Amino acid sequence: LGADLVGFHTEQYAGDFLGCCSRLLGARVDHARQVVEWQGREVRVGAFPIGIEVDEFSAQATSATTREKVARIRQGLGAAQLVLGVDRLDYSKGILERLRAVDALLERHPELRRKIVFLQIAVPSRTQVQEYRDLKREIDEMVGRVNGRHGAADWTPVRYLYRSIPRPDLVSYYRAADVCLVNPLRDGMNLVAMEYVACQAGKVADRLKDGVLVLSELTGAASVLGDGPLLINPFAIQETAEALERALAMDEGERRTRMEKLLASVRAHDVHGWLERILSAAMQSEKRRGAGARRHDPLH
Ligand code: UDP
Repeated sequence: LGADLVGFHTEQYAGDFLGCCSRLLGARVDHARQVVEWQGREVRVGAFPIGIEVDEFSAQATSATTREKVARIRQGLGAAQLVLGVDRLDYSKGILERLRAVDALLERHPELRRKIVFLQIAVPSRTQVQEYRDLKREIDEMVGRVNGRHGAADWTPVRYLYRSIPRPDLVSYYRAADVCLVNPLRDGMNLVAMEYVACQAGKVADRLKDGVLVLSELTGAASVLGDGPLLINPFAIQETAEALERALAMDEGERRTRMEKLLASVRAHDVHGWLERILSAAMQSEKRRGAGARRHDPLH
């Protein structure tokens, strides 16, 4: 509340914050104007969903170097489709639930054996915290269990990289993947979902199928990406497995329609638009604050 403007990823978070100010602090709150009166000042609150550098990702995804890397990745897959997960190793990301969904998918659809490969990239995070170490151990064990249960000498269903991947390689994995599974249990926004979409630009011209985004409805990204993704409740493992199955079986026409919508949404919400919106809102706050209110500003 020392700020003049507080921006959140979603309207829901902005509303929750206003509610907290009134309930916990007894501050006067105008929900319609999204303003908190605090110590003689007005603090404005709003939703400013952040975006990514869409053009930069798309340009890198269509570069000659990426094309070569994608061709190598796809060669290694043979005829199998690639399902991708990319996250910090964090309990909010739903990595265990994702592995359970892959397990359930292979259990219910044994015909998919050798036809899919699931690649999980997990970036080490908060490695000093015991709970994060415990989660890493659980994920390691779960990867082993799924591979042990469904794999064969010539096929490993789950591939797992526990490290940070340089951007050019990450972009290549995004572009090579047929499906991206983003199933956080809670996420303010989730940039991975947007980066995956940006890296699908021009795939058909490269004679590759458009990717499909399977996305948790409990992410901020779900509120800006419209009806392009297949939305799931990340706690419902069977539902996630079914969405995966649907994504893998989706025909090229539906893939195209959904990806066009997704590309339009990530472009409409790119980081440049975000910057303009939040700066112009900040300028309005500054104008309104005026010389009188400046006296109360703790930062002056
Ligand atoms: N990322 C990265 N290295 C990797 C994998 C991912 O730098 O090996 C980046 C990814 O490109 C994205 C960010 O990490 O920009 C993750 O952002 P997101 O909003 O999805 O999740 P957060 O980690 O902020 O909760």
